[in-house]
Amino acid sequence: MSAESRTVVVVGSGAGGASVAVTLAESGVDVVVLEEGSRVDRRAYGGTAPAALAAFYRHRGMTPIIGRAPVGFVEGCCIGGSTEINSGFWHRAPPQVLSTWAAERALEGIGADDLAPHYEWAEEACEVAVWSRALPSSTEALVRGATALGHRPEIVARAAARCVGTNTCAQGCPTGAKRGMSASLLPRAEALGARVLSDSRVARIVLDGRRAVAVEVRRDGAGAGACIERIAAGAVFVCGGALQTPVLLQASGLRRGIGNSLGIHPMLRVVARFPARIDAHSSVLPLAQVRDLDPDIVLGGAYLSPGHLAVMLADNWRENRAWMSSIGHLAAYYAGVMPKGWGSVRPDRLDRTRARARYDLDDDDLARLRAGFLRLCEILFAAGAVALRPCVHGVGELRDAGEARRWVSHDAPVSAMSLTTVHAFGSCPMDGRPGRGALDGDGRVHGLDNVHVADASALPGSPGVNPQATIMAVARRCAIRYVERIG
Ligand SMILES: Cc1cc2nc3c(=O)[nH]c(=O)nc-3n(C[C@H](O)[C@H](O)[C@H](O)COP(=O)(O)OP(=O)(O)OC[C@H]3O[C@@H](n4cnc5c(N)ncnc54)[C@H](O)[C@@H]3O)c2cc1C
Repeated sequence: MSAESRTVVVVGSGAGGASVAVTLAESGVDVVVLEEGSRVDRRAYGGTAPAALAAFYRHRGMTPIIGRAPVGFVEGCCIGGSTEINSGFWHRAPPQVLSTWAAERALEGIGADDLAPHYEWAEEACEVAVWSRALPSSTEALVRGATALGHRPEIVARAAARCVGTNTCAQGCPTGAKRGMSASLLPRAEALGARVLSDSRVARIVLDGRRAVAVEVRRDGAGAGACIERIAAGAVFVCGGALQTPVLLQASGLRRGIGNSLGIHPMLRVVARFPARIDAHSSVLPLAQVRDLDPDIVLGGAYLSPGHLAVMLADNWRENRAWMSSIGHLAAYYAGVMPKGWGSVRPDRLDRTRARARYDLDDDDLARLRAGFLRLCEILFAAGAVALRPCVHGVGELRDAGEARRWVSHDAPVSAMSLTTVHAFGSCPMDGRPGRGALDGDGRVHGLDNVHVADASALPGSPGVNPQATIMAVARRCAIRYVERIG
């Protein structure tokens, strides 16, 4: 460790950063967490969608990923990162995904058995459980339609055992039942002595040969204006998320393997209208997923609030806006794909602190997306929906499964689809082979002694499921390896 400092700087306080911070603090390491976003007052959790977009989200929820089909990426920028606004759905990565990572990337200690204790640790910290009360109507509808068509929908566990269904996941959980990092790991880390500083954007890692010696931080104090500080570092863990981590590493002069392999799970949403009230906007979001269509397709439920509904109807606003007044009869769902390709992340030319991300879906991905979307429409009509409005510019109401089939098979134009994603990963992947990927098997940047990455960007590929559990498990494992190395 550097003679100058014994402090480990953790950049970012989301799923990866909080896992690293508490693991290091438990081992007696001096930790400072630097978070670009603000610490949102607990009383502001559960507020309106516009207020939440300003308080919790990066760029108020609008980060474009450009490509053949533009994709809107949504991520958090606050103490707790994206875990403050996510839905808390919880999956371990399937064992075959982990064994493929190990084989293709020469990684050791990353199999299902190796990661099991880390998953268990995260599950305990996040109070992961399956919903045990009566299923909300929007969940029942998806289960009913999917079962009628021969699928086996699953009710997915969430990081919210004590959820009472306030339907405010995306606006910050006001009861604290959803165990975002601000309610779970960060208080634990702080109780062990870690300092968690908000409004602190790390602009650059200062390197001396193979070692980081400090970070340059832009601190935005309330009313005091911004100032640049240098904080000495014995080691750095970068945990800024899949778009910001490569931007910071590139701003620090690091290039090899960085930002060349962005992965995403894009999804296409649809609003369904039911004859009877379904009240999806006032109950927890649909809890079921359908995964038995194809391993790379998932169908599930989307978050619905008046603000989210307006955004989903906006593609054809003139025609759609009348639906706003019948929100009690509406619920939202999505078809998602897990593409095999890779995109890129670079600093934006006009503003080097912003990420310019690119991802091109190929024809197979699009075919799977269309197939998944069609199946979703069929399931919703089988569940009793009387009309669907997809998030596709120029496509109005679909009144039956035949109309959905005709649209998908004839003229489902990719450029008209309003695709979104909340899962991005793999932009600085671990790879045990020297010179391949960005990081070694312990999450250390190749060629450097004390700069690590432990967040979504470190994953070697798509986890095949919602990623938070795997990000936390892998981040904890990297932090433990670090502690073992420094003795
Ligand atoms: C709306 C939504 C719903 C989701 N639903 C689910 C779900 O149900 N299940 C699931 O598994 N996953 C879900 N996800 C995804 C999951 O939350 C993320 O994959 C996960 O939180 C990523 O962890 P991370 O540590 O990489 O980044 P984040 O949790 O996003 O944290 C990164 C933090 O680093 C900060 N940061 C970035 N750069 C800097 C810098 N230079 N200096 C200082 N700070 C910096 C950011 O401001 C941010 O707070 C969802 C995400 C969203 C947005």
